Amino acid sequence: MKAIQVKEPGAPDVMRIAEVPDPRPGPGQVVVRVRAAGVNPVDTYIRSGAYPLKVGLPYTPGIDGAGEIASVGEGVKVWKTGQRCYIAGSLTGTYAEMSLCMAANVHPLPEHVSFSQGAGVNVPYATAYRALFQRANPRPGDMVLVHGASGGVGIAACQLGRAAGLRVIGTASSERGRRLVLENGAHYAADHAKAGYMTEVLNITGGEGVAVILEMLANVNLDHDAAILARNGTVVVIGSRGRVEIDPRNLMSRDANVHGMSLLSLPEEDAAVIHSALAAGLENRTLRPVVGQELPLERAPESHQAVMRPGAYGKIVLVP
Ligand code: NAP
Repeated sequence: MKAIQVKEPGAPDVMRIAEVPDPRPGPGQVVVRVRAAGVNPVDTYIRSGAYPLKVGLPYTPGIDGAGEIASVGEGVKVWKTGQRCYIAGSLTGTYAEMSLCMAANVHPLPEHVSFSQGAGVNVPYATAYRALFQRANPRPGDMVLVHGASGGVGIAACQLGRAAGLRVIGTASSERGRRLVLENGAHYAADHAKAGYMTEVLNITGGEGVAVILEMLANVNLDHDAAILARNGTVVVIGSRGRVEIDPRNLMSRDANVHGMSLLSLPEEDAAVIHSALAAGLENRTLRPVVGQELPLERAPESHQAVMRPGAYGKIVLVP
């Protein structure tokens, strides 16, 4: 089969298409014929060698994907060849024509959800669900700021938040990104590249502050976030690309909370809850992953450049 291979960490062009043996399922495993692979920022951190999680070399990138079950290993009862599924973690990588997965890490994909959309479910929606409902847990009516709402996690958070009765403010730096944020459940959209936009956010809340902030770029925003939280408010740090200095008094005076989260440390029982909820949301069409760009597998290097560029618009996926 064809797969992207990385022989050494480095710039995007270390990802090259190669011919590799087809994977075979062992006990408790399935092989998925990948119809689309999701590109996540974490794939770029791992590829560049900058991520704490080290992988053996050579390796095939990709955590997310969607396709059909190609074969099942011994003891696998729930899956049959040909069934549609999305992948939430792969043993051999998803930037490939086939991917070996533990059966427990593969979930049903309804007919009305395309494979490209399915490739945008796991990391974005599991992260948004985890941050909103397992780390912050706001109540219906609460104001939530999705700080970086135009990308994979942000769009998922807008859809989930709106469905749960939250008042959602989403930010994006482009006009089309802000339109997308509004189309996907946000009540208000603000421009995080514009001076003074945090005052605009505070004004939307009538000066009360927001109950929850889902933060995609904490190294830039955490200090300012603390200043627009409501009393007992919570920031969930989802993304950060460096260090930050904050004024702790803003947290103290509000009895505020800062929570971190990482999908890497997600306990199995919480993951099971998340994927049950996501399956229901896909089924009843509350959750509608937005695919902004589809590229052929061999253009993986371009996809890694694009996912790190400003002007996010939903998900980028690779099509084998
Ligand atoms: P993405 O699709 O590339 O989207 C990035 C988002 O960040 C876009 O909405 C972008 O907006 C926004 N952004 C850019 N500059 C910003 C700023 N100054 N303030 C606020 N937002 C800003 O990435 P993603 O998949 O949504 O992931 C978002 C972040 O979370 C990434 O850093 C990723 O590594 C991290 N993440 C962490 C976990 C975890 O387990 N903790 C899981 C998934 C993702 P514009 O492009 O419109 O400017």
